Amino acid sequence: MKILVINAGSSSLKYQLIDMDGEQVLAKGLCERIGIEGSNLQHTNVGRDEKTKIEKPMKDHGDAIQMVIDALADEKIGVIKSMDEIGAVGHRVVHGAEEFADSCMITDAVMKALEKCTPLAPLHNPPNIIGIKACQKIMPNVPMVGVFDTAFHQTMPPKAFMYALPYECYEKDGIRKYGFHGTSHKYVAQKAAEFLGKPASELKIVTCHLGNGSSITAVNGGKCVDTSMGFTPLDGVPMGTRTGAMDPAVVTYLINQKGMSAADVDAMMNKESGVSGISGVSSDFRDLSAAAKDGNERAQLALDMFSYQVRKDIGAYAAAMGGIDAVVFTAGVGENDAAMRAAIAGGLEFMGVKIDSGKNSERGTVDISADGAAVKTLVIPTNEELMIAIDTKRLVEGK
Ligand code: AMP
Repeated sequence: MKILVINAGSSSLKYQLIDMDGEQVLAKGLCERIGIEGSNLQHTNVGRDEKTKIEKPMKDHGDAIQMVIDALADEKIGVIKSMDEIGAVGHRVVHGAEEFADSCMITDAVMKALEKCTPLAPLHNPPNIIGIKACQKIMPNVPMVGVFDTAFHQTMPPKAFMYALPYECYEKDGIRKYGFHGTSHKYVAQKAAEFLGKPASELKIVTCHLGNGSSITAVNGGKCVDTSMGFTPLDGVPMGTRTGAMDPAVVTYLINQKGMSAADVDAMMNKESGVSGISGVSSDFRDLSAAAKDGNERAQLALDMFSYQVRKDIGAYAAAMGGIDAVVFTAGVGENDAAMRAAIAGGLEFMGVKIDSGKNSERGTVDISADGAAVKTLVIPTNEELMIAIDTKRLVEGK
């Protein structure tokens, strides 16, 4: 079965066509500037390693999806003969709230439930919904599946997901911890169990998705029991430009004492903070490492704050699970930044986490634990698109 994976943003749309026999990516690409001047499609025929850029106006996501289908079925740059070869479409959806604890087939009732989740992710869910509707219009007979960033975290117990606000805030307004990057945490936790040759049900794993946005998750017996992101993806460890967790009274102080508007504080916490705000250098960890090497103390401080908070979360989640068998690093920083992995793991020796500096410089899926370490430390490249395709196939086959 060939599955089209769609990740629709407000003015962009990423796609991959995956042949599930052998889990091969046939083609992938990106539509940019949808609805604005300069719309273009960047398409890669993976088998031939051939990239094509097509500049053509796309007034909406419907135009974008049509261009994607045309490119996939094109005689020269395509990988299929016609749209009929697409067996199903898997859509990434950011927020499924408490409505969705698993991926699901998209029906009219599901579309209504998705609209209900929109106030919780006002920037992300609307383009996801627009992407689904556009696909339904062009491919009315192709089954569609929604895969939610929040779903994997729905197994958290109330003691982990509740905030100590008046109970009505949860009951009436759904204010609680939801967690994000769930598709990535689920994928790498499954891969870690396969790699270790043990059933997921027997493992206590802390998965560290460290990228431009970062989150840490405690996975006990294959199920999420706690995670560092919260009501929104602003919570947890410091990120590229996001604060991560801090005393919420900072917000009211900035508004009441410093005269900032709520919108300004929101923008500051999301776009001007994190390692970028601390260093004044960049949100990119490569730039920070280079600046720190050149003696920039604030760049070093940003890196130290990041590794310290990630290390604390790993320790906290080991405590939450009453033990730990493996730590998994993934995403841009987790997969590529050996120095950061070493900084995080340094100081965790007391609980059996010890990495081998030689193995830590290897790439791909690799066990970087020192010989004899009680806890395995693994690097596992994430693959959210493949996880979406796997879930889509499972649901379409009625499993
Ligand atoms: P992601 O959000 O998973 O795409 O991760 C993006 C981030 O990964 C970038 O902002 C970089 O900071 C980081 N990154 C990518 N490659 C490297 C590398 N070789 N060394 C350090 N950081 C990297």
